[in-house]
Amino acid sequence: MAGDVQIGPLDGGRVFRAALWQVRRDLAWATRIAAAVGRGIGALMIVAGVIVFFTWGAFGGVWLALIGWFVLGAAGSEARLLSLRNALGGLVVGDLTRRHAIAAQADQTLRDFMAEVPWGDDSAGYPVLDGRLVDEVALVAELLPEGSTLHGLGLGSPENLVSSWRAGYGIFDCTLPTRNARRGVLYTDLDSAALGARGFYRHVNLGDERWVREKGPLDPTCDCEMCTTLPAAYVAHLFRVEDVLAGTLGSLHNLRFYTRLVDALRERSSP
Ligand SMILES: [Zn+2]
Repeated sequence: MAGDVQIGPLDGGRVFRAALWQVRRDLAWATRIAAAVGRGIGALMIVAGVIVFFTWGAFGGVWLALIGWFVLGAAGSEARLLSLRNALGGLVVGDLTRRHAIAAQADQTLRDFMAEVPWGDDSAGYPVLDGRLVDEVALVAELLPEGSTLHGLGLGSPENLVSSWRAGYGIFDCTLPTRNARRGVLYTDLDSAALGARGFYRHVNLGDERWVREKGPLDPTCDCEMCTTLPAAYVAHLFRVEDVLAGTLGSLHNLRFYTRLVDALRERSSP
């Protein structure tokens, strides 16, 4: 039945659009005109169907109106599809996704994870790492000749660092500690006796209200420049007023956290 209707987005509509395209060689214009004509005809069919039904009581009128309603909707969706295609034309996946998504560890507490998420973050979701990354890293270590120097490029979270160290990696290189520091996310309370266990360190967020009045150091266990000379409230203030010094001090602290972490690993075992 619908195949006989030569309008809108249906077969006849496509032929009509192709004829229009011949005129200007412009698909967008041809689709717009064809869709508008399709919508017009759909609306006319509805009106005609209603008149036929109420004037002559013919059931065929209802049928005609229903087909008109279908044509109207289909022509509209064709036009919407085209505008969507125009709006998204030329975009690549990287334009619409985040290159540096905040990832959660599967065994991390929700509170610790939320401390990592900066204020005002509008991500719709966060990837969860369930340890498979480290499994693959360990497999690579096994496949390489014995005695190879293993460099864990981009393995940045303290958990991944501990696991990779245990898999034999001895050199690490990752932007995570300084990137987190610039976002106000700092690592604290390193428990060298429980490396790799749940809660062997904490994440804190400088934007968190609780730091505003903290006169003590951000991390009493840390011997970095920031923790030994400045109250946490001052650093939190720098962060709130977006002073670049906050990122510098935070980077010093996070890097010191990592060197302390690696020192603790070295004390216990060689990679
Ligand atoms: Zn520190």
